[in-house]
Amino acid sequence: MKPRILTGDRPTGPLHIGHLVGSLRSRVRLQHEFDTYVLLADVQALTDHFEHPRRVRDNVMQVALDYLAVGLDPREATFVVQSGVPEIAELTVFYLNLVTVSHLRQNPTVKSEIAQKGFGESVPAGFFVYPVSQAADITAFGAQVVPVGEDQLPMIEQTAEIVRRFNRLYAPVLVEPRALVGEVARLPGLDGKAKMSKSLGNAIFLSDPADEVARKVRGMYTDPNHLRVEDPGRTEGNPVFAYLDAFDPDRARVAELRAHYERGGLGDVKVKRHLLDVLEATLGPIRERRAEFARHPDEVEAVVREGTRRGREVAAVTMRAVREAMSLDYFADAEINAGG
Ligand code: ATP
Ligand code: MG
Repeated sequence: MKPRILTGDRPTGPLHIGHLVGSLRSRVRLQHEFDTYVLLADVQALTDHFEHPRRVRDNVMQVALDYLAVGLDPREATFVVQSGVPEIAELTVFYLNLVTVSHLRQNPTVKSEIAQKGFGESVPAGFFVYPVSQAADITAFGAQVVPVGEDQLPMIEQTAEIVRRFNRLYAPVLVEPRALVGEVARLPGLDGKAKMSKSLGNAIFLSDPADEVARKVRGMYTDPNHLRVEDPGRTEGNPVFAYLDAFDPDRARVAELRAHYERGGLGDVKVKRHLLDVLEATLGPIRERRAEFARHPDEVEAVVREGTRRGREVAAVTMRAVREAMSLDYFADAEINAGG
């Protein structure tokens, strides 16, 4: 049997180029060697989008299109809608007993997201505990490997802690996962902020038309002190160079541009024009494939429906073992125990 992977995305918007280098590419590469499950995490998206259920629903299909466009193959990878697997919610409830509020408060990613979203003490409880529901996602599928961006490392650590605690307390039924960080641990935003995010308005989406990409690149943050072409410029903390590092396959050319920019004499307009060519070389073919799949929404829906059905079967196996380990298997042969 192949080892398992579980990854996923929150359908809070279409996917961006940070996802591509942060996790999509490693998923595409690994889908042949691993039994791969990709979660369309609509339940998690609702933790901070509960007022916009329609938006989350629409984005499930958008994200599925992004998956197909980048080369995730439904014959290799199973696309699962999280809300279609209620076992995950059930596991979450059991795992909540195994973590403390003070430990959850220390999660650095959740901490910074709470600050970023301005939640303060009014953070929705569901959002606050989402690392626990992520532990449920991962363990429901018995995943050994989880390809993620760097911001998700605390979630994998939290999952491993829950797994160890559960296995010690009840019975050794859960699999301890490890994280696999992609080619680029964290792609910065167009605005120079540390992370490109769907929800920060600082992203180039895989589905952006070419003129939109051009507009975004032209407006990108660069070194604010690089006022005249002949001035020396900073490449560190400059997202233009971070993107060149991530997307330009010609390393020697990037090194040359970097040196020229730092020395002075290379203007922002010129580097950005080059960056746009580089990005288009990647995005052009993705855009074309995406448009092709978008012409067959019924087929995309069928892929997601069938994937969710298979995903639920896998989760049901875990659920039975968990219920047994927790002495909750009252009616061992009955339907009520199998989760319907
Ligand atoms: P949101 O703003 O709604 O949280 P997001 O852009 O952070 O959206 P997620 O769906 O939360 O995207 O993340 C999905 C996966 O993509 C995670 O593994 C995450 O680490 C990775 N990822 C997201 N943004 C980046 C980025 N800028 N660089 C590298 N990886 C990223
Ligand atoms: Mg996120």
